[in-house]
Amino acid sequence: MLRLHDTATRSLAPLHSLDGGAIGIYVCGPTVYGPPHIGHGRSALTYDILRRYLESTGVAVRHVSNITDIDDKIIDIANAEHRSSGEVAAKYEARWWEAMDALGVAKPTVIPHATDYVAQMIEMIAALIERKVAYETADGVYLEVAAVPGYGLLAQQSLESLRSGARVEVNEAKRAPFDFALWKRAKPGEPAWDAPFGSGRPGWHTECVVMSLELLGEGFSLHAGGEDLKFPHHENERAQAVALGRPFARHWMHNAMVTEGGEKMSKSLGNVVDLASLTRHHDARAYRLVVLQSHYRAPMELSTTHLQAAEEALRRVDALARRLQQAPPPERAGSPGGQLTADFGAHMDNDLATPQALGVLFGGLTNANAMLDRGDAEGGGALGYQVLAGFAAVGLFPRGLDSVPADILELAKLRDEARSRRDFEAADRMREEIISRGHRVEDTPSGTRVHR
Ligand SMILES: [Zn+2]
Repeated sequence: MLRLHDTATRSLAPLHSLDGGAIGIYVCGPTVYGPPHIGHGRSALTYDILRRYLESTGVAVRHVSNITDIDDKIIDIANAEHRSSGEVAAKYEARWWEAMDALGVAKPTVIPHATDYVAQMIEMIAALIERKVAYETADGVYLEVAAVPGYGLLAQQSLESLRSGARVEVNEAKRAPFDFALWKRAKPGEPAWDAPFGSGRPGWHTECVVMSLELLGEGFSLHAGGEDLKFPHHENERAQAVALGRPFARHWMHNAMVTEGGEKMSKSLGNVVDLASLTRHHDARAYRLVVLQSHYRAPMELSTTHLQAAEEALRRVDALARRLQQAPPPERAGSPGGQLTADFGAHMDNDLATPQALGVLFGGLTNANAMLDRGDAEGGGALGYQVLAGFAAVGLFPRGLDSVPADILELAKLRDEARSRRDFEAADRMREEIISRGHRVEDTPSGTRVHR
C-alpha cells in the first residue's frame, strides 16, 4: 500500500479513502493568465504519476483540479488588451489543456472553474464573518489569522515566528500582516459579483477551500500542489476550514521546484521554459521521464541534455516493445518478472521513490533483452512485459507500435524462414520489398526486426 510523506505531520502515512472508497485528490490548478511553463509541467506530471500509479494498483481516484479564472493578473491583461477577463481566461485555459494533452497528463475527473462557485464562496465568507473570525475593511473582507488555532502548521512555523520574520506589508486596512483577503471589493471596470458585504470578487485562497470541500467532501484524502503553494495558499485554505470547524484535507503533498544549475528555474533555459516549446522540440515523454528521475520532494534539474538523455532511454523502451510485438513469447505464465513487479511496487509505495523504481525497470529491460538475445523467448518475453507494465503504471507508453502492417510482419517471418534454409537470394528479395514499402530492417539474434 502506498505511503506518502505528509507535509503537516512530516511523516509517511497511507491515504484515507473517501466514503465511496475512492481516493479523493485536490490539486491546485493554474491561474490562467499566461502560457504554462516547465514548473507547471513538473507539478502536473507528479500528480498524474501518483494518480496513474494508484489506478494501476486497482485504487479508484477522484481527481479534482481547478481553473482559477478570476484573478488580479487576468484582469490586468484583460484591461491592457481591451478584452474581457473571461476571454483572457478562456484563451490561456485552452493553452493549458493543449500542453497537458501533449504531456500525456490525464484529464482530472472534475475541473471546477472558480467563477462557477462564487455563490458558495459568498456563503462561506458570510459564515466566517458571522463567527467573527473575518472582518470587513474599506477594500474587502479579511480573515483574522490570530483567531485560527494552529495557524502555521504547513509553514511549520508558529504565527509568532512567521511575524518576526515577515517583511512589513503596507496595508493599513488589515489588522495584522498575515490576515488575508477573502473578498476584494470591485474597483471600476472590474468583474464583480453582488454580496452582502459589497460587490466584488473572491480571494484565491477562498476559491480552493470552497471547491475542494464542495467536490470531495469534508475530511478528503489529499490536497496537493507545488511547494510554493504550501504557504500562504494552502495554509490559508486550511485556516478557513479550521475557523469553521470543518474537517479539511487529511494529508498534504507538495512537489519541489524545477531548478537549473542549482538555482530556481530561470529564463536562461531559453525555449524549454515554455511547455509548448518543450513538447514541440522534444519527445514529450522525455519530460515525464526526467520528472521520474528525481524524487518529487527534491529539486529537479532540467536542461536539453537531460531531455536528450531521456529520449535516448525511451528509445530502448520502444525497441523492447517492438521486439515483443514482433516476436511474442510462446507462453507468458510463470513469469520471472513477478519479482520485478514486486520490487517496482515496493519503491513506488515508499513515498513514490521513482528514481529507484526506474532503476528496477531499466535493469529489467537490460535483462529481458539479454534473455531474448540468447534465445529465451519465454523468460525474456515475460520479464519484458513486466517492464512495460511498470512503465505504463507511471504513464510511459511505447511508441512506434502497430505501425508495421501485418503483411510486412509476414514478409519478415518469411525472410527468417528463407534465411534458415539458407536461401539468401529470397531473403534479400524480401528485405528489399520491406524497405521499398517504407520500413527499416534490422537483423537481431532472434531474427528480422522491422520498424518505421
Ligand atoms: Zn489552490
